[in-house]
Amino acid sequence: MSESQPLSASTTPSLLDRLAAIVGEDNCLSRPEELYTYGCDGLTLGSHAPSAVVLPADRDQVVAVVAACRKFERSFVPRGAGTGLSGGAVPMDGAVVIGLSRMVKIVEIDAENRIAVVQPGVVNAHLSEAIAHMGLFYAPDPSSQQACTIGGNVAENSGGPHTLKYGTTTNHVLSVEMVLPDASVVRLGSAAGFAPGYDLVGAVVGSEGTLGIVTEVTVRLVEIPEAVETMLAIFDDVSDACRLVGGIIRSGMVPAALEVVDRRTIRAVEASVYAAGLPTDAGAVLIIELDGAACEMQGLTDRIRELAAREGVRELRVARDAEERALFWRARKGAFGAMGRLAPDLYVHDAVVPRASLPEVLEEICAIGDRYHLTLSNVFHAGDGNLHPNISFDRRNSEELARVVAAGREMLELCVRVGGVLTGEHGVGMEKRDYMGLLFTPEDLEAMRKLRDAFNPDGICNPGKVIPMTRACTEANPRARGYDEVPL
Ligand SMILES: Cc1cc2nc3c(=O)[nH]c(=O)nc-3n(C[C@H](O)[C@H](O)[C@H](O)COP(=O)(O)OP(=O)(O)OC[C@H]3O[C@@H](n4cnc5c(N)ncnc54)[C@H](O)[C@@H]3O)c2cc1C
Repeated sequence: MSESQPLSASTTPSLLDRLAAIVGEDNCLSRPEELYTYGCDGLTLGSHAPSAVVLPADRDQVVAVVAACRKFERSFVPRGAGTGLSGGAVPMDGAVVIGLSRMVKIVEIDAENRIAVVQPGVVNAHLSEAIAHMGLFYAPDPSSQQACTIGGNVAENSGGPHTLKYGTTTNHVLSVEMVLPDASVVRLGSAAGFAPGYDLVGAVVGSEGTLGIVTEVTVRLVEIPEAVETMLAIFDDVSDACRLVGGIIRSGMVPAALEVVDRRTIRAVEASVYAAGLPTDAGAVLIIELDGAACEMQGLTDRIRELAAREGVRELRVARDAEERALFWRARKGAFGAMGRLAPDLYVHDAVVPRASLPEVLEEICAIGDRYHLTLSNVFHAGDGNLHPNISFDRRNSEELARVVAAGREMLELCVRVGGVLTGEHGVGMEKRDYMGLLFTPEDLEAMRKLRDAFNPDGICNPGKVIPMTRACTEANPRARGYDEVPL
């Protein structure tokens, strides 16, 4: 491919004709009102319209679309459900969006070997629903699981409330089929779980759509545990809830989930359709879920009661049945939706800190929010030290938007300063691309760029994401410049 500058609009119609011929007129969108939805994902700080959106039906159509984009020197961006929170699926510089939402087949379920083969557009929750009657589930459970896709989960290495015990997506992906940016098809990893040589599946999981387009995924399935116990520990102060998290882990228990919901979030939830009867005067609630053999539940629950009492718990509710358990989880998983009551926009931050520093970091994060006069709430995967400071705002107010961005940066700097990292599960995308230097040296970034170049040498696939364009990067690979140097 030649050094690529954005194409002139006049060449677009012939690319559009080609795309429409591949996927059919109905699955090739180009009217402004159709493209509007695809200008951003769950990160609403800004929007970039694509030049077209195509919705292929299968792997061969993806191959043909990629080949057409390459022929017309037009960059492209894979997209699942668009629930990403770091701008990963945002089409920079008029890229073509390749939406995988029609590729929703569960190709195979092998209950004996505990694996499933799925197309990338399968919605996360649909997989667990389809296999529940076999006593199996798919463990990674992002709070967005009713909408987000397995392909998006693979690209973001998504986690969820149950990551604490079961691990993130990377621990559950055995093999992927991927269309590379040169339109060739590769299959990486092995359904058997043991692929000799370099761990290329490990490289693809979490690569945020910058290495190619995943068209099939083989995932590991897990047995539904015999028993589950879900508790709601109610505290006057969020710091005490965090201290209980540390106490539980130090005791040697590994709960399935430890999730904190703070006061402002509780109030938003209780005023919404997700209301679960949480006390609106509490400082925070901690959802504690244990799972495993039925015979160990009573002992573990008693131990949690003891530890919670030591941290001054106000009340400890144990879900009486599956219905009440679902109610506790509805409050947690509906929290982001409930925030819609506070302001038109929500900036969901994502960073990880060492678990022991949670109380102090939270206090400091609230102080930053106050200093910038922002509406801040916190709901997070406390067991993993994975914070989600949420800022409610109105993006139409540019002065407020500037404060949101500045406060977000300070929060990230704080997390890195205490030994944390920039993102736990939402990815870097375009949101944190230019913060990567807070954590990585130029040499680290150069190593990452070399990995990306091995798959995507001219940056045509999802440009402008993850790796900041330092001078060293552009000098090392001038071919990538045209695609990557795009304004954020
Ligand atoms: C309310 C809410 C709650 C959330 N909770 C969580 C949570 O608990 N844990 C968590 O980890 N995340 C969470 N998220 C973030 C988001 O849901 C995840 O990142 C999810 O994996 C994105 O999936 P998607 O299908 O929407 O992908 P998209 O947003 O469409 O895309 C995400 C990235 O994946 C790439 N991509 C998509 N499909 C493919 C493919 N087939 N091949 C290659 N690249 C691809 C895109 O280019 C982009 O870079 C939440 C989001 C919301 C809105």
